[in-house]
Formats: sequence, structure tokens, C-alpha cells
Amino acid sequence: MSRTGYSRVLLKVSGEALAGDQSYGIEPEFLNSIARQIVDLTRAGMQVAIVIGGGNIFRGMAVAAKGGDRVIGDHMGMLGTVINSLALGDAIRRAGGRSHVFSSVSMPSICDTFTQRAAIAALEGGATVICAGGTGNPFFTTDTAAALKAIELRCDVLLKGTKVDGVYSADPEKDPSATRFDAISHEEVIAQDLRVMDTAAFALARDNGLPIIVYALSDKEGLVGVLDGRTPSTRVG
Ligand code: UDP
Repeated sequence: MSRTGYSRVLLKVSGEALAGDQSYGIEPEFLNSIARQIVDLTRAGMQVAIVIGGGNIFRGMAVAAKGGDRVIGDHMGMLGTVINSLALGDAIRRAGGRSHVFSSVSMPSICDTFTQRAAIAALEGGATVICAGGTGNPFFTTDTAAALKAIELRCDVLLKGTKVDGVYSADPEKDPSATRFDAISHEEVIAQDLRVMDTAAFALARDNGLPIIVYALSDKEGLVGVLDGRTPSTRVG
């Protein structure tokens, strides 16, 4: 057990966040900052798995909106998550950590294909596991992949970094009277119609008792601060 009380965590990083101030691609400063925070988590004694989005490169919906085939668009989106995963794996190594990229879409000359056994063995061996390719299926999101992999890999918690530091009673960017919850149950999130993750992802988390911590990606204390309670966040479940 680490000093934060968590042994194994799954971090969801959105593609949009990886782009930083850019509208497309990967912003090296953000990439290196998240890599350093991940290495700090492993040094604090935690096993870390990561799911990365691909919104900074491609979204299937954007193809469908222009009359293209949604399934092909989603395949392109999943390939975008592989690009991001390879970049983060490399940044973690440069930051002094160990990383192992697995993909739900087989591409053996680039990375290993995801299996629960191999990914758990890599985590137990001290590598940060990066799960690329989302769920491997079209019509899903990487939020759903994050919930799925967190459950499959028996993680204690799913960490979801956002623009704001938790779950609020209303959108804090639009309503100044919105208040942040320190803790809230899955059921209350549904009853109050609060948006934490997309419906499929949230249902999977609720049905399997997976807690979610929502925190601000911009927080200076980093992920260790979120997990040891120094940083404001909301724990769901
Ligand atoms: N995607 C998919 N299946 C999955 C995960 C992702 O088809 O299981 C595709 C989908 O087109 C999606 C894109 O990959 O728009 C990028 O993922 P997402 O939108 O979740 O990325 P994020 O919003 O986190 O950057």
C-alpha cells in the first residue's frame, strides 16, 4: 500500500488536454508534465495504468457529421489514441520511469496487444501500463475504455482530470453560485443529472462499484496531491 492509501490507480487523460493551447496534436510541455506526475505516483508506491483519448487528433463523430462512415471515423480516432499513447510512453521513459504500451487494436510491430494477464503482470513488475486503442470497438469513447480497463485491471480508483477541480452542483463556468461536492455517490450523480463521464462509462463504473476522483488537470500539486487529499477534488462512490 502506498502512502496515499491507493495501490493501483487508472488515470484518464483526454486527447484535448494533451493538445494544451493548440487545437491539434501534442503540446510537449503538457506531455512532459503529465509524465513527471505519473513517475511521481509510481515513486510514491502506486501502480499506474493510463487510458488516453484521441480528440486532439481525430474524432469519429466529426467524420460522420460530414457524411463519412462513422465506423471508419472511429477506427481513425482509435489510431489517434495509439499515437498519443506512444508519445506518453516515451515521455515517461525520458522522465525516468518505465512504461509498457498495450493496444486493444492489434498492431504487433508497434506495441503489444492488450490482455488482462499481460497488463497486470506489467503493473506488478513496476511498469506504468498505457492502454491504447480505446475499447477496440467503434461507437465507444475512451471514457468507457477507462472505466472498462480500471475494472479489468482491478484498480482502486479512476482519476479523471478535467478543466475544473471536481463535480459541481451546476456548471461553475456559467453559474457563479455553483458549489463543489467533496464526495458524492454514483446514485446522487444520476439523480441530480450531473455530468461526470458519458452514460456508458458512468453506468459501468456504478455497476461495478468503481470510485471516480474528478480533479483539475492544471493543479500544481499534481496527481500525488490529488490522491493524498491536499488538492481539492470530488470523490464519486
Ligand atoms: N474511439 C472509438 N472507440 C473507443 C474509444 C475511442 O471508436 O473505444 C474513437 C472515437 O472516434 C473517439 C476517438 O476515438 O471520438 C477519440 O476518443 P475520445 O473522443 O474518447 O477522446 P477524448 O475526448 O478523451 O480526447
